[in-house]
Amino acid sequence: MTSIAIHPAVDSGFGATDAAFAGGTLVCNCASNPVKVRIKGDIAHNHVCGCTKCWKPKGAVFSVVAVAPTESIEVLENGDKLAVVDSAALIQRHACRECGVHIYGPVEREHPFQGLSFVHPERFEEGGWAKPTFAAFVSSIIESGFDPSKMDAVRAQLKASGLEPYDCLSPALMDYIATWTAKKSGALAA
Ligand SMILES: [Zn+2]
Ligand SMILES: [Zn+2]
Repeated sequence: MTSIAIHPAVDSGFGATDAAFAGGTLVCNCASNPVKVRIKGDIAHNHVCGCTKCWKPKGAVFSVVAVAPTESIEVLENGDKLAVVDSAALIQRHACRECGVHIYGPVEREHPFQGLSFVHPERFEEGGWAKPTFAAFVSSIIESGFDPSKMDAVRAQLKASGLEPYDCLSPALMDYIATWTAKKSGALAA
């Protein structure tokens, strides 16, 4: 069986998770004047994502993406190179205009994820961040042109890498979103 390029960080196995990991500096791919953004504190819900919007390294079928509170994010250097990829999108993905790497993507409008930013932990200069624990939006890789006949193989490979495949978000995150929606509508007590 030919193995599929899920993502370099997945395919090469992960660095050890450091329970004391407390954030670090995300850096874009520019050889000179890279954008640097500091995250104070740990990331959460790290996962691989098959959607068409997340930034992926060249050749990868999935992104590696996690969240951090937007208030814990600080642009350190070369923030003038950042531009929002799609201002109409829920996630305001800030990408480097020169190398294209997405550095952080805050959710600003009213939504269960409001106040959180999506980041790509592989861009941390430091090691030790918690590894991804599931695969989201797996079926969406077909929208990027992935061969539908290989989906069984992709899901098998994800499971073998310890990444339970889902075609939306994980049950924990879907429950979180539904709870927020039910409290907003009054179906559940706030
Ligand atoms: Zn760059
Ligand atoms: Zn995505």
